[in-house]
Amino acid sequence: MSKYQVNQKGYYGPFGGAYIPEMLYPNVEELQKKYLSIIQEDNFQKEFNELLRDYVGRPSPLYYAKRLSKKYNANIFLKREDLNHTGAHKINNTIGQILLAERLGKKRIIAETGAGQHGVATATVCALKGLECVVYMGEIDIRRQAPNVARMKMMGAKVVAAQSGSKTLKDATNEALRDWINNPVDTHYIIGSVVGPHPYPDLVATFQSIISEETKKQLFEKTGNSLPDYVLACVGGGSNAAGMFYHFLDDEEVQLIAVEAAGHGVNSGESAATTALGNEGILHGSRSLLMQTKDGQVIEPYSISAGLDYPGIGPQHAWLFKSGRGKYVSVTDDEAMRAGLQLTQLEGIIPAIESSHALAHLEKMQVDKNTNIVVCLSGRGDKDLDNYMKYFGF
Ligand SMILES: *Cc1c(COP(=O)(O)O)cnc(C)c1O
Repeated sequence: MSKYQVNQKGYYGPFGGAYIPEMLYPNVEELQKKYLSIIQEDNFQKEFNELLRDYVGRPSPLYYAKRLSKKYNANIFLKREDLNHTGAHKINNTIGQILLAERLGKKRIIAETGAGQHGVATATVCALKGLECVVYMGEIDIRRQAPNVARMKMMGAKVVAAQSGSKTLKDATNEALRDWINNPVDTHYIIGSVVGPHPYPDLVATFQSIISEETKKQLFEKTGNSLPDYVLACVGGGSNAAGMFYHFLDDEEVQLIAVEAAGHGVNSGESAATTALGNEGILHGSRSLLMQTKDGQVIEPYSISAGLDYPGIGPQHAWLFKSGRGKYVSVTDDEAMRAGLQLTQLEGIIPAIESSHALAHLEKMQVDKNTNIVVCLSGRGDKDLDNYMKYFGF
């Protein structure tokens, strides 16, 4: 087993575990005991792969971005998760988890969402399977992501506003955990990123690992080498990055670069750059790195991108950072917005603002014309058009 993967006890180095209230033990223990055997069953794998192909539209293309490559004098490949059904990588995870929930005999699904992308991906698979769906979402996010709220409602989900704290993702997560405590028997909680108590970080990373599994094959077909020099992905909780890194973790010659949101600047007081500002603690059920005050109060994060507006990162990322296997960097709102506009005008692809963060790091890299770089284009920018328009004054 890779030293970067979860161990028998649910840890990545010192990070991970399941730090949960006693009332959640039965739910989490049930998952811990059963998830591996269920997802390895032939009939699970068969249905998962069929849905990824026929419903999500996988494999997603690996696109050689010619004009972008010319601009940076390197070979840049975009892994097109933006072309998935519902417009982002999140559907890979929700398809996996709905199949797991079915096999656990659950009738009701709950989820938290920030940008609304995970809420949409969850409402989608609930419609697909005819299961009841309740999505918790911060009141502020409900306002700034109205089209996604409409999508969820149209698919039959109930959207519940989280009114506490900053009224964003972390508050929605707290509400969802509270619901799960009150409904332990019939409800499965679909967490949307590689966060939460063990086994969620491993479960979600496993479902997202299809991203790097396909990338390796596709890169080999295009270049004769399955290993790029660099792999880049943005990090909110870290699920698209975890999926993009997964099959490269033990190929130490591949440099893994995770891009966090610096908001108005790492030291501006308005940022979500967890590895730069955070330290060790417990957030949403696992030991990891998070932004907190000296006495352990979670600091409200900020990013122009709702999907990166989260005060922590998943435990595997904390370990990749601490062990030095991954390089963790950050880019500001301004840098990301410019990179998003640049991709749109060079390649005709409007990226999600989250993905624009990964793209913005390209400018800061030392490369030459033989350097092969894969960027995870985690989602499409349709949901962000208002933001782009306001920012650029179109
Ligand atoms: C949610 C989201 C992210 C951030 O979540 P991760 O778990 O870090 O991947 C990134 N990009 C898009 C398009 C998203 O919707």
